[in-house]
Amino acid sequence: MHRRNHTYTRNIVLGMTVSFCVLLSSCTALKKVAKTEAHVSAYEQISPVKGRVISAFGYRDKKKHTGSDIKLQNGDTVKAAFCGRVTKASSYSGYGNLVILKHANNIITYYAHLSKCLVEVGDSVVAGEVVGLGGRTGRASTDHLHFEVRYDNIPRNPEQFFDFATGTVRIPFLAYSPAKESKMEKTEKDLKEKEKSTNFEKIVTIKPGDTLYALARRHNTTVKQLQELNDLEEPILKPGMKLKVK
Ligand SMILES: [Zn+2]
Repeated sequence: MHRRNHTYTRNIVLGMTVSFCVLLSSCTALKKVAKTEAHVSAYEQISPVKGRVISAFGYRDKKKHTGSDIKLQNGDTVKAAFCGRVTKASSYSGYGNLVILKHANNIITYYAHLSKCLVEVGDSVVAGEVVGLGGRTGRASTDHLHFEVRYDNIPRNPEQFFDFATGTVRIPFLAYSPAKESKMEKTEKDLKEKEKSTNFEKIVTIKPGDTLYALARRHNTTVKQLQELNDLEEPILKPGMKLKVK
């Protein structure tokens, strides 16, 4: 049952992909296929490199990291994740040598810090075609690929789409819709809130000079709550006493 549904969904996705790629016409250009390292079908989605993620998408030092940083060696080949058209292939600020590909379904991919771009603006590429060689141009402290996946020009977590360590696909670009993601993010947020609100018991040892008032302030609670938590009849603290503050 599940298997059949899966095959059915996959066929739809593949069908859509083929149509999109045919629309992009040049995805099937023979000379391009010849340039790919291994033979790949036009509708495939391929991890641009295989390697360890050394910096994930998200917040890093209070700044948004708009892609996944994947470790590679200088000169390693970087492949197009999907068929599409090259819209940039030159140096761009902190990105260093950058290749940008425009795909179907409003998806755009970025390949940054390349030591060399091997495509030109206007070129059509197929999935798996080498777009450049890895490096550390731009703002990079080590050889790595900064890979971005944008939908509606908003960076999305590339690890939703790929497991870079194994080089396998998680979500096909064409099956992606931000509604699914916002739902996922919401669930994550809910879980985090839940974690926060789950009060784990916390016990402190009273030191000389501690007062209920000071403890309450220090642990973001009230004298009344502390008394209730600890069944304190009299608000007198003795050094060495154990008190629940949560
Ligand atoms: Zn990065």
